[in-house]
Amino acid sequence: MKEIFKTFKRLKWFFKKFIKDYILCFFALIFVSVMPVIPTKVLGIAIDDIVMGNVTINRIIFYIIGLLIIPIFIYFVNIFYHYTMNKLGQELSFRLREQYLEHLFELDSYIYEKYTKGDLIARISNDLNTVSGLATSFLQNVIYYFITIVAAICVMISINPLLSLLSIAFMPFAIFILNNIRKKKRLYYLKHHQIYGEMTENVLESIESVKTVRAYGMEDDDYVKTKTAIDNDTKSWWHIQMFESLFVPMFELIYAISYFIAIGLGSYMVIKSNITPGDLVSFLLYVGMLYGPLIGLSNVLNTISSINVASNRFFEIMDLETEVHDISEPKNIMKFKEIKFRDVCFKYPFDDFNVLSNINLTINSGETIGIVGPTGSGKSTLIRQLLREFNISSGKILIDNIPIEEYKIDDIRNMVGYVPQEHILFRRSVDDNILIGNPSATHEQIDNAMIVADFKKDLNELSNGEHTLVSELGGSLSGGQRQRLSIARALVKDPEILILDDSLSAVDALTETNIIKQLKSTRVGKTNIIVAHCFSAIALADKIVVIQDGKITDIGTHKELLKYDNWYKMQYLIQIKGDNYE
Ligand code: ADP
Ligand code: MG
Repeated sequence: MKEIFKTFKRLKWFFKKFIKDYILCFFALIFVSVMPVIPTKVLGIAIDDIVMGNVTINRIIFYIIGLLIIPIFIYFVNIFYHYTMNKLGQELSFRLREQYLEHLFELDSYIYEKYTKGDLIARISNDLNTVSGLATSFLQNVIYYFITIVAAICVMISINPLLSLLSIAFMPFAIFILNNIRKKKRLYYLKHHQIYGEMTENVLESIESVKTVRAYGMEDDDYVKTKTAIDNDTKSWWHIQMFESLFVPMFELIYAISYFIAIGLGSYMVIKSNITPGDLVSFLLYVGMLYGPLIGLSNVLNTISSINVASNRFFEIMDLETEVHDISEPKNIMKFKEIKFRDVCFKYPFDDFNVLSNINLTINSGETIGIVGPTGSGKSTLIRQLLREFNISSGKILIDNIPIEEYKIDDIRNMVGYVPQEHILFRRSVDDNILIGNPSATHEQIDNAMIVADFKKDLNELSNGEHTLVSELGGSLSGGQRQRLSIARALVKDPEILILDDSLSAVDALTETNIIKQLKSTRVGKTNIIVAHCFSAIALADKIVVIQDGKITDIGTHKELLKYDNWYKMQYLIQIKGDNYE
């Protein structure tokens, strides 16, 4: 019970904001819960009038109002009420979804290693919908059931207290027993939410990997895997449903007993003239009116527990704190003169060993820096420090002699144009994909970016030139084209620091050399950091940094590094002989 209040508290801002709608809905709800008692009562009176032969014109008008006008009125209030309530529900879902997505963008990168995509999606779909049900259907049901039950019981007692007492005496038992059954069901809920997340992850993976799956003829395996996940989800849901089907017939049985008492005892009372036949008809209708709300009310605890589970899962993500965040008064930065790495050590949050150790490096503004080293040596990890994704474990990264942590994170990221190893393209046209780098770029700027990235020549090969639609996984483009398009996207931002992280692996040596030449000549005064494999291209860099096993083992120009025996020279010699250099 405590937990549900916690969820209410967390949604307080929403209730506050829409307090007027809620108040209106509250009154409408009282109206639609209490008013249905009237037609039932009027029917009883009408029957008695007919039996007694008391029907007059005035009475007929009274019946019409009671049996027709009031129900029509209730109908319209109901429409208004449901419309407003649904609107509120949608509004809450929308706002929570927005907050969740915003929060996901702020979270540290390692969160995406801790939680799977499917799980994160399940939390924003299934769980979020359940949570927003709290502010709509849950509230509505509790109030509606409660008022209807109280109203019906009051009128029943006014007809005959003894009859009321005897016919509803069984109902609390029914609710008690059934609630116990449902307690078990709750346990399944938690499990079901996990299974749902797993299923989403599986389906997502199947969709993403469809090409690879086909290429390896793994459709059958993949089908079995996905089907198992879907089956598990269905089975778990079925388990929950089984409790439900146990519950309803049992309730009906107990209800039949109540009806039996009401009809038996009621008829006896009519014969004894304790109540009128009309009263008995009304009474029986009231017993019927209790059925839905009683089932609903007994389900409330159940709903509460599923809301609690969903709410915990949803807010677990919302409560995750970022380790990398702005200090209280961060400094602004647009340009820099010098970035210094001083004894920087770094380990990933889930690892217990350093991936980078004692890195000392100076990056001067306007330099083109090449970074080389074996796969897994820490090249990407090193340059990504400039994106401020993680906090370093020890040492300092100073920008113009001020620790990087003191600058505004957005400013730092804005200075950087990062082209990652894996090229993420969006389902948009070629030029729209470039515009992501700088939405206000002019046509000329896009053109220049394409020239420098050596993408211009590819346009002729595309069916629709720069308007060709690119799929998410870059399906319509070759590997090299995808890489060059990603570089154009970074270039259109005209960043202070351009980072190409193995972004030229799929282009030939000549194109690679051309691109680096172009970068040097067009980006005067700006910094380029290039992780590359082709040594003849990297030779153009002002400074080459060699990383091995998380440590910088050499820094120098191409010429300087070739002067003595080292990893660089060895790899270079292998490469010019045409062998695999690694
Ligand atoms: P490179 O770019 O030189 O190939 P990386 O910087 O990508 O090397 O990786 C350096 C080391 O850090 C590798 O051992 C790799 O397994 C590990 N590593 C890379 N990314 C992560 C991560 N997100 N979490 C944990 N370990 C990682
Ligand atoms: Mg890398």
